[in-house]
Amino acid sequence: MEHETTYRVKFETLGCKLNFSETATLGKLLAEQGIVPATEDEQPHLCVVNTCSVTDLADRKCRQHIRSLIKRYPHALVVVTGCYAQLKSQEIAQIPGVDIVLGSEQKLDIATYVKQWLADHQPTVAVTDTPKISRFCPSCERGDRTRYWLKVQDGCDYYCSYCTIPMARGRSRSGTIEQLMQQVRQVAQEGGKEIVLTGVNIGDFGKNTGERLIDLLRLMDEVQEIERYRISSIEPDLLTDEIIDFCARSRAFMPHFHIPLQCGSNEVLRLMRRHYNRELFAEKVYRCRQAMPDCFIGVDVMVGTRGETDEFFEQSHDFIAALPVQHLHVFPYSERPGTYALRIPLVVSQKTKQERAARMIALSDRKQREFIAGYLGTTRPVLMEQPHGDATMHGFTDNYIRVNVAPDAALVNRVVNVRLLSLNDDLTVDAQVI
Ligand code: SF4
Repeated sequence: MEHETTYRVKFETLGCKLNFSETATLGKLLAEQGIVPATEDEQPHLCVVNTCSVTDLADRKCRQHIRSLIKRYPHALVVVTGCYAQLKSQEIAQIPGVDIVLGSEQKLDIATYVKQWLADHQPTVAVTDTPKISRFCPSCERGDRTRYWLKVQDGCDYYCSYCTIPMARGRSRSGTIEQLMQQVRQVAQEGGKEIVLTGVNIGDFGKNTGERLIDLLRLMDEVQEIERYRISSIEPDLLTDEIIDFCARSRAFMPHFHIPLQCGSNEVLRLMRRHYNRELFAEKVYRCRQAMPDCFIGVDVMVGTRGETDEFFEQSHDFIAALPVQHLHVFPYSERPGTYALRIPLVVSQKTKQERAARMIALSDRKQREFIAGYLGTTRPVLMEQPHGDATMHGFTDNYIRVNVAPDAALVNRVVNVRLLSLNDDLTVDAQVI
């Protein structure tokens, strides 16, 4: 790079936490080439959009973001990567102003492609066929937050009938335990206190290395400087009793699990090609509750999937209502090209999907309120986060209750005990540091 000009880059990231941590990794790779982030009022030379393709809406949003960036920075070089780029690279390449489209395998080589474009100004589409995707893009970032997101696994071999992620991210693979432990020690050196393990199907860790998730968790727990770990999500059939018991006895794994259920009807779970039935799911929930009575359990629920009759939806709602879980992450089903689900004849109307989503969200709200109410007046440890411009400081308790306390700069990135005082409409709790 001719160093008279310091190249400035602007990032736009859509989608999951995995995408955000990967964007930060791309930022690091470009920074190694002297390309630095542009400030808000600087004209970037380069714009990078890391896309998501989990629903039709996500695709539409990506196109809107790409077009508005091109309109705002007409002279910038535009690079598009991420799941949408992997799945529909030609569609993106046809958007006027897009210069480079990189698939999941090529995103790590972003600096090389940018250099090449600066040399020849040739539009580039570099995407590997999904089955051949094999590289693991390591990433461990906190961006402007306090907690770190450590990517431990990528890709998925499950092929649930409604999902395109295996087609966008390739086969299940992970970093080696040694590679990941180096990143954990780096976080400790940087003074990090909490690490959230992230991935596509974390429980499938070690598919390409022959290593086991439990062995990684054990080694992580030995790094004394890290006071907290959370597993961002784990499939019910991969959440072994060994992992549950280990977390319960561990020094630093928090009493908090996020377990995708998707539906509480076995008929629909079969249509979704999920790898468990609702009885197994309930067993895991009660196993967690028994091992960690204070644990917070979040659950992914999809509504309005093809084949979900009124009866099956009621079964799902009642099943979840009876379970000791605390929060539902509700997704209305979205038709995805190339998925098996499109062969299921019964289609649920948009109106019914919205009604079912509203009922599940109301159920989630009630459950989370009941859970939090049980802790008012008690004391819990909280990692205080870097404030972001508002008048209060926030943090999560060990069992994932969001608290607000009076701001005190000395508390940033420290685990302190707080008394939970009162519950707000937004499900946060006003608390007092003690
Ligand atoms: S487990 Fe199923 S829903 Fe999750 S990423 Fe894999 S295929 Fe998609």
